[in-house]
Amino acid sequence: MDKVINRKDLAFFALGGLGEVGKNMYCLQYDNQIFVIDSGVLFPDEHLLGVDYVIPDFEYLKQNQEKIVGLFITHAHEDHIGGIPYLLKQVKIPKIYAAGISVDLIQSKLMEFKDIDPIQIIEFKSYYTYKFKEIEVSFIRLNHSIPDSFAFVFKTPYGTVVHTGDFKIDLTPVGPQAEYEKLAKIGSEGVLLLTADSTNALVPGFTESERKIGDSIKELFSHIKGRAIVATFASNIYRVSQIIEASVINKRKVVVFGRSMAKTIEIGQQVGYIKPPKGTIIEPEDVVNYKPEEITLLCTGSQGEPLAALSRIAGGTHRQIKLIPGDTIIFSSSPIPGNQEGVNKTINLLIKNGCNVITHSPLTDTHTSGHASQGELKLIQALLKPKYFLPVHGEYRMQRVHADLAISCGVKPENAFVLENGDVFCINERGARIAGHVHSGEVYIDGNQIGDVSGSIIRERKVLSEDGLFSLIITISPDKKILPIEPQVVSRGFIYMKDSEALTKKIVDLASKFINNEMNKVKVVNLNILKYNVQEYLAKVIYDETDRKPMILAVFMVLK
Ligand SMILES: [Zn+2]
Ligand SMILES: [Zn+2]
Repeated sequence: MDKVINRKDLAFFALGGLGEVGKNMYCLQYDNQIFVIDSGVLFPDEHLLGVDYVIPDFEYLKQNQEKIVGLFITHAHEDHIGGIPYLLKQVKIPKIYAAGISVDLIQSKLMEFKDIDPIQIIEFKSYYTYKFKEIEVSFIRLNHSIPDSFAFVFKTPYGTVVHTGDFKIDLTPVGPQAEYEKLAKIGSEGVLLLTADSTNALVPGFTESERKIGDSIKELFSHIKGRAIVATFASNIYRVSQIIEASVINKRKVVVFGRSMAKTIEIGQQVGYIKPPKGTIIEPEDVVNYKPEEITLLCTGSQGEPLAALSRIAGGTHRQIKLIPGDTIIFSSSPIPGNQEGVNKTINLLIKNGCNVITHSPLTDTHTSGHASQGELKLIQALLKPKYFLPVHGEYRMQRVHADLAISCGVKPENAFVLENGDVFCINERGARIAGHVHSGEVYIDGNQIGDVSGSIIRERKVLSEDGLFSLIITISPDKKILPIEPQVVSRGFIYMKDSEALTKKIVDLASKFINNEMNKVKVVNLNILKYNVQEYLAKVIYDETDRKPMILAVFMVLK
């Protein structure tokens, strides 16, 4: 089956991350060696009811696991590392290569899963190189919204492949500068293939520096009279550290809410990215010992997620914190498309409670993206001058615009390819081509259980949420072929039985008649077949009567 890729083809393909923002997983394959880059999750929208994560289908890796040399991690965002525990449960990965805080965050994630065999995590430094037969792997430090984000450089017999990972060009970063000199050097030596982050390919200009946001938050803090409540992404360690810094300058103590925020601060302190002076971070119960203007609450929930700290504070259901009029809430974030409604709901609740709300706007710079805008994407093209270009990490239209940007910077139109997950891009001595597809797909994860949720469960949940449940409890004596009592209807989310007695009665009568008929047609009643037929029949009757398709359940209580 695996003859899409010939042994001497240099192949690049994605198992996740193309046509979407999330579940990033890219593979470079050459000479029976597979380099797996990242293993992320995608956070689903509300159409996938009760599904916590979506991960790539690892079938291709399962079938080729003896070729895998390692999993290489660009940085520790969930869309790049969230899938690791599920990958390790299904596929034998020899080693994970990761840098700095990624190592700690991966370890802490793996500790939450008890049934995973220990795996060796090799911590690389930006000046390391590794050699795997003819392929040499090296690293370039770049800037992003989490520390220790790297681009990967693969030197191959056909030329150099650069995979940017998530990045932006931040000339005044919080934390170390990107290694621009390496980019320039590799560019001058010649780049065969570039694969680059498309997240902000639709955004003109340049992305604001992270430093600027810190300054803007410090400035805002100096005007805030009461408590400052700041909501941001827990994973944005630089932002969290700048908010703590702004609090210290303005003589505020910091209280932390939200499990992921607490974890970020714990690991950030261990690794040295967050350095609050002693006594800065206080426990929730100590808040009462300070005046409102001496307190910053740092919390999760900047996306209006219903269970996150800020949403619970806004809704009055938080165990420890109640809003007080005069609180100022700063959203140090931008709503991710799809989350706007939840964010608006939270903002309305906050304002109703007499709070001031500050969101990111041209006047109040409380957020910047971690991804390169068009200007920076062009700069990378100018530095690397790749022969071939594949836009990755983005929805289709972002990939398309990114490919056009590359073409405007000198990539030949026939050398820029917009791929989908599973498409295999191959280079060999004859040139480049899309060689075919490897298996790709989605797997749904519900909670931390390994049990994947199949498409049929999602469909059932969808039916339940939209049209509810109609259940008929049928007391039956199959031996005597009678229904000793009339079937009972139980419905949830479908019809209010009080308002629709006539309809319920009609359905029960029709069903009773149908069951009696079915029983009389056969010598011996097979309850499984009967159940199936009754459900089919009810579905039809209910659809005819109500135009709706609830989930239908026939339950038999058997009397001898
Ligand atoms: Zn990222
Ligand atoms: Zn990402």
